[in-house]
Formats: sequence, C-alpha cells, structure tokens
Amino acid sequence: MLVGAHVSTAGGLRTALGRGASLGADVVQIFTQSPRAWRSPAHGEEELAAYRLEQARSDRVRATFCHATYLINLASSDEELLGRSRACLADNLAVATAIGASGLILHVGSHRGAGLATVCGQVADELLRALDTAARDVRVAGAAEAAGGDGPTCPLLLENAAGAGGTVGRTFEELSAIVERAGDDPRLGLCLDTQHLFASGVDYSSIEAADEVVRSIERTVGLGRLGCIHLNDSKVPLGANRDRHENLGEGEIGVEALACLLGHPALREVPAVLEVPGDGNGPRAADVAAARKVVALGLELRSAAAPSALAGPDRASRRGGGEELRRRGGRGAPT
Ligand SMILES: [Zn+2]
Ligand SMILES: [Zn+2]
Repeated sequence: MLVGAHVSTAGGLRTALGRGASLGADVVQIFTQSPRAWRSPAHGEEELAAYRLEQARSDRVRATFCHATYLINLASSDEELLGRSRACLADNLAVATAIGASGLILHVGSHRGAGLATVCGQVADELLRALDTAARDVRVAGAAEAAGGDGPTCPLLLENAAGAGGTVGRTFEELSAIVERAGDDPRLGLCLDTQHLFASGVDYSSIEAADEVVRSIERTVGLGRLGCIHLNDSKVPLGANRDRHENLGEGEIGVEALACLLGHPALREVPAVLEVPGDGNGPRAADVAAARKVVALGLELRSAAAPSALAGPDRASRRGGGEELRRRGGRGAPT
C-alpha cells in the first residue's frame, strides 16, 4: 500500500515533492490554492510543467493528489455561492489536471437541510460541467498528454463526510446517488476518509465490521471508484458528526480498528494519505512511519484471522462464520 501525507506548498507547488520525500511518503496531497479563500493564484505554465517533470523524476513520491477548496458548495441554493463554487472548482481542476494529479478530492457541500433529493441533480450537473470544462481547456492548451494515461482530466474524488448539518456524502448511498445521477461518469470516484467514516457513526473495530464497510462501498459507489483513502484518527467519538482529525493511535478510533480496515485485501492497492495534525504543522516523518505500522498490523490481523475461517464449518458457524465463508468463496463478486 502506498502511504503518504498532506504537505505544504509554501514556496511553490513543486516544493511539495521534496517535503513528501523528506517525510518518507510515497504519495503527497496538496492544496493548489488557499483552502479557505476563493481566489486562485496564477500558476504559470512553466511551474505546472516543472511539477510534472519533477514528479516523473522523483524516485520517492509516486503520485500527487489535490484537495479542493473547502468553500466550494455544489449543493447550495444561493446562486451567487453556487457560481463562485463553480468557478473555484474549475480553477482547482485545471491546476490538478495540469500537474498530472491522480485525483482532486472534493467535499461536495451542504444542502442546509433541503435534503439530498432536492440537490442531487444540481450537484451531478455541476460535477459534469467541471469535468467537461477541464477537458475542453486541456484540449485547448494541447496538454492532454499531461494528464496521465487515464483520460484528459484529473478524476474528481468525492469524499465521504463526517455528517454535520446538511453535508452531502455522509453515507456511501448518498455519494452513489450523485454518481448515478451523473450517468456513472468514469471520471468520478470516491475518497474514503477514516475519520469522517467513524464520525458519521460507522464502527470498524473488528475485521467483520471492517468487511461490512468494504461491502457497503461495493454495493453502492463500487470499489473500482475508490481512488484514495484519507488515513486519520479521530478527536471525537463514534457518531459525533464532526470533522476533527487526530494522529494515528492518539484518537478515538485507535490503531487496531484502522488496521482492520486498511488490511482488507480490496483496499491494499489504494493510496492512503495522512491529514493528521502532527505537532501542529501537519504530518511528520513519524506519522508516516506510524501509518506504515498500521498497514503492517492490518496484514498481520488479516493473516491471523484467515486460519480460523479455514478451520472448518463447525468453528466457522459458531462464530457466525457462514457468512465469512461465503465471502471468502465469492471475493470480488458483487453481493
Ligand atoms: Zn479527508
Ligand atoms: Zn476531514
């Protein structure tokens, strides 16, 4: 599993790659503009091209994810706010595409109590509009080759929400409804945040519970769309509906539950990015090392669990393991 961290771009976008390397990260995540301001700085063509070049040359950092501006709200009923959100998302996606990012991670926004059904069509339209605009601009700039092999634009990864207020995306069903409404566009994906998941009330403190999380992604958005994991512990308890990240092992989720989830075979090819506070300035090398330990523990827990499931139907059924055996036989098949 590729493990990485959100890093600063102070001094220019490219500096993120060096910072990532110094943390021992395989992947980095960056903001391409201030996450709490609408204004997009002018990134020169040369700067963007230099990022791609440096990324290609880096023997440490293999991929970059971008995180979109927090102010964007595609579910807003306020025309002015929606217009600003549209322009801002376009800016974010243009830069993410130009640097060859593997995904632009987006908080969809909040319907402020209106309900998902009211805003689902609007959100889907805005996502498609953003992707189509970015695709057109890339063609205009003649930089299609810059976007990597997957297509002309950087994929948009919708992040599951902690569930405060009317946030859209508090369940995989909600995100799935949006993707479906957008015609199952292949450029739309999922970013799974472990803290948001826990805060939204989903427990995954056992292998069985973690398996159920993965099954629920499979049933809804689809595992093929899972492009990134945000690996964070939580400052707030299960179901608190607040977006508050903590360093791994220092929060309410704990290392073992995170390991139960990360060790799932279906998640092992998905890059995991830390967004933890560190000692106040974001993820440190020690946090990346801690993340690698969680991944290793996940593999250990899974391999320790496997023999018991193979011990025969008697033992398996005593543990309610009929389900587990069916799953082992049918891994990869839709349920
Ligand atoms: Zn996140
Ligand atoms: Zn968060």
